[in-house]
Amino acid sequence: MAPIFPSFPDKPDHNHLELEILERWEREETFEKLRELNREGPRFSFVDGPITANNPMGVHHAWGRTLKDVFQRYKALRGFHQRYQNGFDCQGLWVEVEVERALGLNSKREIEEYGIAEFAEQCKERVAKFSAVITEQSRRLGMWMDWDADYYTFTDTNIEYIWRFLKTVHERGWLYQGHRSTVWCPRCGTSISQHEIFAGEYRELEHPSLYVRFPLKGREGEALSVWTTTPWTLPANVAAAVNPTADYGLRKNGDWVATALYPDESFVRSALGGELVGLEYEGPFDHLPAQEGVVHRVIPWDDVALDEGTGIVHIAPGAGAEDFELSRIHDLPVLAPLDEAGRMLPGFGFDGLASDEVADPVIHDLRHRGLLVEAGKVVHRYPTCWRCGTPLVFRVVDDWFISAEEIRQPMLDANATVEWTPAFYSKRMDDWLRNMGDWNISRKRYFGLPLPFYPCDDCSTLTVIGSREELEERALSGLDQLQELHRPWIDGVAVACSGCGKEVRRVPEVGDAWLDAGIVPLATLGWENPEFVSHGYATGAGKGLTTADLPDHAYWEKWFPANWVSEMREQIRLWFYSISFMSVTLTGRSPYERVLTYEKLLDETGREMHRSWGNAIAVDDAFDRMGADVMRWQFSSQPPNQNLLFGFGPANEIKRRLLTLWNSAKFLTDYANIQGWQPIVDDLVSGPGGELQPLDRWLVARTNAFVEEATGAYESWLTVNVVRGFDEFVEDLSNWYIRRSRRRFWDGDEMAFRTLWYGLVQGVRVVAPVMPLLADHLWRELTVPCEDAPESVFLAGWPEVPAPDAALVAEVAELRRVVELGRQARSAAGVNLRQPLRALVVEGAPLAEAHLDEVLEELRVKEVVFGPVEASELRVKPNLRLLGPKLGAELVSVRTALEAGEFEELGGGGFRSAGHDLSAEEVLVERRGKEGWSVAASDGVTVALDSRLDEELVREGRVYDLIHRVNSMRKEAGLELTDRIGLTLPESDRDLLEHSEWIARETLATSVDAAGPELAIEKN
Ligand SMILES: [Zn+2]
Ligand SMILES: [Zn+2]
Repeated sequence: MAPIFPSFPDKPDHNHLELEILERWEREETFEKLRELNREGPRFSFVDGPITANNPMGVHHAWGRTLKDVFQRYKALRGFHQRYQNGFDCQGLWVEVEVERALGLNSKREIEEYGIAEFAEQCKERVAKFSAVITEQSRRLGMWMDWDADYYTFTDTNIEYIWRFLKTVHERGWLYQGHRSTVWCPRCGTSISQHEIFAGEYRELEHPSLYVRFPLKGREGEALSVWTTTPWTLPANVAAAVNPTADYGLRKNGDWVATALYPDESFVRSALGGELVGLEYEGPFDHLPAQEGVVHRVIPWDDVALDEGTGIVHIAPGAGAEDFELSRIHDLPVLAPLDEAGRMLPGFGFDGLASDEVADPVIHDLRHRGLLVEAGKVVHRYPTCWRCGTPLVFRVVDDWFISAEEIRQPMLDANATVEWTPAFYSKRMDDWLRNMGDWNISRKRYFGLPLPFYPCDDCSTLTVIGSREELEERALSGLDQLQELHRPWIDGVAVACSGCGKEVRRVPEVGDAWLDAGIVPLATLGWENPEFVSHGYATGAGKGLTTADLPDHAYWEKWFPANWVSEMREQIRLWFYSISFMSVTLTGRSPYERVLTYEKLLDETGREMHRSWGNAIAVDDAFDRMGADVMRWQFSSQPPNQNLLFGFGPANEIKRRLLTLWNSAKFLTDYANIQGWQPIVDDLVSGPGGELQPLDRWLVARTNAFVEEATGAYESWLTVNVVRGFDEFVEDLSNWYIRRSRRRFWDGDEMAFRTLWYGLVQGVRVVAPVMPLLADHLWRELTVPCEDAPESVFLAGWPEVPAPDAALVAEVAELRRVVELGRQARSAAGVNLRQPLRALVVEGAPLAEAHLDEVLEELRVKEVVFGPVEASELRVKPNLRLLGPKLGAELVSVRTALEAGEFEELGGGGFRSAGHDLSAEEVLVERRGKEGWSVAASDGVTVALDSRLDEELVREGRVYDLIHRVNSMRKEAGLELTDRIGLTLPESDRDLLEHSEWIARETLATSVDAAGPELAIEKN
């Protein structure tokens, strides 16, 4: 007889199997067929947050992309029509810094010498190259997207939409140029905005620690003692701040300090900070040209810290944000000591030295002039550039800002309409919105969104261009060379001032990259676009890269807002913020209805992954060594509010668990091939019909319960519950149904085959969004004999099952718990599983009583009694994980009472102690059995096992051991499952012949004898 099913190898070769399925999807156009199937279905709108196309993708990207794919696949199986548009982020510092590295350029001057036009071309080439690489990697991950129709944030279309936004905020009066202290990256030569600081890293860095004396004028021998870790700021000092309500003391050496910081000292004199305010002092670098005419004085400041330093703070408004704010309040001069590259400007005494090179000469100089009290080192957490890792400094510069004041409340209102998963991240978003400062949108760089700002010196009008059309209308020259809207070409266009008509030029700045990604829900969906342009999105730098359409407004109305978006948690301050800012500004609505967000990816030991630490995993390595399904499994099993510890160790554990699924499918197909059994595809619709045995009815109910549970988990965007549910389901299917039904498969029992096939196939269908490759492989293998089955699991829709028999499912769950506890009790008593025992007492599992026979058989006991367990000792401990959060400080008294044995038992495994009712889950119960009894308990169920042996029990135990040995020998000898044997026991086991019928039945022996020294089998 020809085999009905293909034969399964012992283990899946994930990599090989995945490549084969990917190839079949391609060849059979599975994705296209699926989209066609759903074309008339309800819409599910997902908007992709763009991945930056400047490097291969990392495993952390694979996490996010997996979640996106899981839910798009799930929705597709439910019949939803979707867009499947992937996005690439293409301009801004991300790309610039990588291109600089590749070209060996190290400063803005070098970029300008290289040529901005050629630099822009290099940036575009890099994007084209890595968008192709990422696409390949995403396909390998099993991600389904409309790969030719990606959006690229550097198209002229995208740029024009941002221009439109900027023109709108200008019309509303929110746009302004600020002269401000800003965080600055000296290497990148640009400001860093608030959200970018959070995106960067705080690193433990060693900095100089200086105590410096500022002599007070008119007070001979007295000086202010100040502490600083930034010596480069001292030449810009203009004031010293004290806390007006704190106590200050004059030390014997003549230095004023806050007394709170010198608790062990006695002081010559003391004064309130307020009494020092107004005193003048000699600045540390009064002789420098920059300091000419500056009067240094003591100012009050409530925020002066009294837990470090001296309690007197040196103030340099040109070199710090708070200092700058104080300069406005106290009308202090602003001396800005650093140039764009973070080097000292002329007039500050250390011409051309970088801020971190100034320390030694400053220390030397101060010491020489007797102003240095002490110099040392301090290690502290210090912010670094999110792009290049350089420590950040403060500079006072002119930047462009969008005021956040008027949009704050509308954004909060919009966020109130959004459903977050996990829910508490909604509050994180609110916190960010309440505290967000004005949006610093300008970057002094090259390959980015050109800010369309044209200031006029004559009439002070700021012309903001809102579209390419408007640019063309206003242009006075330079249109002929405008190949796209990027620098340097855009800079070649002069326009007429909207105030006076005079020729004006664009400011040199480009925009924050979050403008590029933030406009996507409008730019890609055709907001207010009059006409649908097929393949019309690939404009400017995007020409030739994509076939995406530029839709019209009617399309936007259909697809906006996104029903769902998903990105990692740090995007609260980045992408979620920027798309919300821009959409609420332009449309008054949140661009998304639901969000799934998740934490960070670390290595399997909990450390951050860094290439330089050697613990980073390249995504291609992960594909080769674990396979995409196992990666996706790892991502999907992660609770989203915790960091994911990703690695090969967890991957091997997942492979081991997937082997249970594999072995179950192999078991079914192996026996079906022996018995010639054929599946019926209609069973997937109506369930296996016919004479079901109780265990079959249970597996059907259990399967339906899993379908229901997993559907609920997908609907609440929690893959972790899908994976957990699937694990438990496969465990039930394999370790209960198959194990307890083996004999029926040997006997070719039709109903057993149909039931198991139903469970397996439905399970595979439900888990398919999570691990699409293995699932489709199994679907295909298991439906080979069904001519009318869809060729792919993704064309089979979602299983529709009747409501499960919940009572039956609960009954068997309780039975399984009893068996599990019985095993624990057995192992605690040191009795092996094959040894029969006399009795088991079960308490707290009334549903299991209907399954008495199964308990007897599973636990190999002669008798089971349902009733109270008599124990000699009962110990109850709090389950800290649950009770800690619930009881708080009360926990101590409960714990003490439990330890002292002060508790009473409630029904259902609960206890009352110290005035609190504790449920079965909230306590850990330990019962010590009576002499000869072994006890185990959990979740309100307790079992006691009589572990005493007698001669008869020992003999039966030997029979079980013997059967086990014989069956191992059969396997080793390569016998078929149906082969009969002759069996010879060793002479020493002659007493077991008393059980020869039993032995013959279990080993398929036609004869059982005893002779000689060895156990022997012989094939008949
Ligand atoms: Zn930088
Ligand atoms: Zn003008």
